[in-house]
Amino acid sequence: MCGIVGYIGTQQAAPLLLEGLSRLEHRGYDSAGVAVVGPTGVRVAKRAGRVRDLQEELPKRFAGKAGIGHTRWATHGPATDANAHPHTDGKGDVAVVHNGIIDNANALRADLADAGVDLVSDTDTEVLAHLIALSDADTLEGKVSETLQRIDGTYGLAVLHADFPDRIVVARNGSPLIIGVGEKEMHVASDLAALVRYTTTVAHLEDGEIATITATGFTTYRADLTHAPRTATEVDVDPASYDVHGSDFMLREMLDQPAAAERVLRGRLDERFGTAHLGGLNMDARETRAIRRVKILGCGSAYYVGQMGASLIEELARIPADAEAASEFRYRDPVIEPDTLYVAVSQSGETIDTLLAVQEVRRKGGRVVGLVNVVGSAIAREVDGGIYLHAGPEVAVASTKALTTMFLGFALLALQLGRVRDLSIADGKRMVAGLQALPGQVADVLALSEELVEVAEQLAAAESLFFVGRVRGFPVAREGAQKFKEITYRHAEAYQTSELKHGPLALISPKVPTVAVVPHDELTDRNVAALHEISARGGPLVVVTHPDVDLGGITCRRVDVPRSERELDPILLTLPLQLLAFHAATHLGLDVDKPRNLAKSVTVE
Ligand code: GLU
Repeated sequence: MCGIVGYIGTQQAAPLLLEGLSRLEHRGYDSAGVAVVGPTGVRVAKRAGRVRDLQEELPKRFAGKAGIGHTRWATHGPATDANAHPHTDGKGDVAVVHNGIIDNANALRADLADAGVDLVSDTDTEVLAHLIALSDADTLEGKVSETLQRIDGTYGLAVLHADFPDRIVVARNGSPLIIGVGEKEMHVASDLAALVRYTTTVAHLEDGEIATITATGFTTYRADLTHAPRTATEVDVDPASYDVHGSDFMLREMLDQPAAAERVLRGRLDERFGTAHLGGLNMDARETRAIRRVKILGCGSAYYVGQMGASLIEELARIPADAEAASEFRYRDPVIEPDTLYVAVSQSGETIDTLLAVQEVRRKGGRVVGLVNVVGSAIAREVDGGIYLHAGPEVAVASTKALTTMFLGFALLALQLGRVRDLSIADGKRMVAGLQALPGQVADVLALSEELVEVAEQLAAAESLFFVGRVRGFPVAREGAQKFKEITYRHAEAYQTSELKHGPLALISPKVPTVAVVPHDELTDRNVAALHEISARGGPLVVVTHPDVDLGGITCRRVDVPRSERELDPILLTLPLQLLAFHAATHLGLDVDKPRNLAKSVTVE
């Protein structure tokens, strides 16, 4: 997780570093720090809290034209000043910022302690600073390379050294690092968002690589310091779209969903043949027909939307499909079948669990395609083909517009797979028309926002809630519960409606509300029967449903969303659940964009 920035050039580094950090704060926000190096050595300022707290406390004279910065998402030790990055060696010659986890940190800490080194933080990162300082290699690259040979784990890191004030040395293994080439200055960051204001000429470091960055250029090496030449290329992004200052990102991102939906569909629908064209999949018709199974891999909301995607694929392409938490996948030594299509889903394209799952599949010879938002990200580069989501930057930790575009990405994929196989042209055209209508329907549902404020406030008063749905509605309920719990900190649990009476009904009471997803489909009657059971036990109900569903006079707060083609209904049913979570969290006075303990882009295992 965490954000890393670095600058070296002709300007004072600190203001640029702070500016970059404020753009990355969503990636980790429990502490922040910067270090600069100049002729008089390395200086560090760091503290627990937000970037603005650091900014206020930064010493007036904090001069240096090379520097590094970090916003932390703690893995080892609480959010304290001492645990904030950059970490230094005892003498303060070396400063290190690090994203990731050093797996053998305990053993290294013990070795260092035996050698008389005083460790001042609880972090795994601190060992890096000491090992670099203790290395007797002649160059900073040599010291870093030697240190990394002793490290097991993942890292994106940036290093300053008082004896080498003309450079920043960076390294990558599992956590993103991007080098930005400017005019007589160079930048480095863990995310494009921190670079694009200064440059769109970038080079992505690959796993196992080290790079030296000076004011005039960069050199990339393999771990053993043999040259691994890498050139910077122009990325086609609109820097303005990365303008992430301000607040209420979740609200802005929810409201961007109609436009995001149009972007992901643009140029990909074929009305004449009732199909979708996804050139980036890199799969011809013969390969498409050979697919016997689809396995979707994602984490959190990407996993839940993956379940929605699996239904779409089964319904439209009649290929058995299921979704699995990517974080568990590789640990069960999965059987990788040659005729299975694996689909990796990740907004950032850097989600480490999903990336490692992709690598597991590829290592065993399977084919993986990606549904990824961030262009050029690690997963996008690793997969055999894919669908870019064009959601635009998503900053709020709770995913909204990325999730909606993921759903539509699955709809496109299912349609293309279906039409190469048995889906009729009539059904294909029905889906194309349904998809074309969706952006407008998304806007219609979002227009319900104000109406949902009151009911959201009532839900916010409950300590514990259920979200229930069946079949197509179950991943909707899971996503609704996820959104609610991550930003309101209420205990929100998703269940299949059908499972309620097999246990959880025991918890239903006037104090435990249920948000039920009841689409107009073949299960409506069964769902309504379950609502009666909840109601009979005094459980307050909010029902997200379609206008023509008869709820049989049940006392509830009803939220009607427009009907789409039934396969596409889940996304419209999901939107009110986003709004409920948002309004509940706002009512509780919580930081909706930066929920506690979380961060955007989960780049540590
Ligand atoms: N493992 C490091 C720590 O706990 C880095 C965490 C991060 O990626 O922010 O300090």
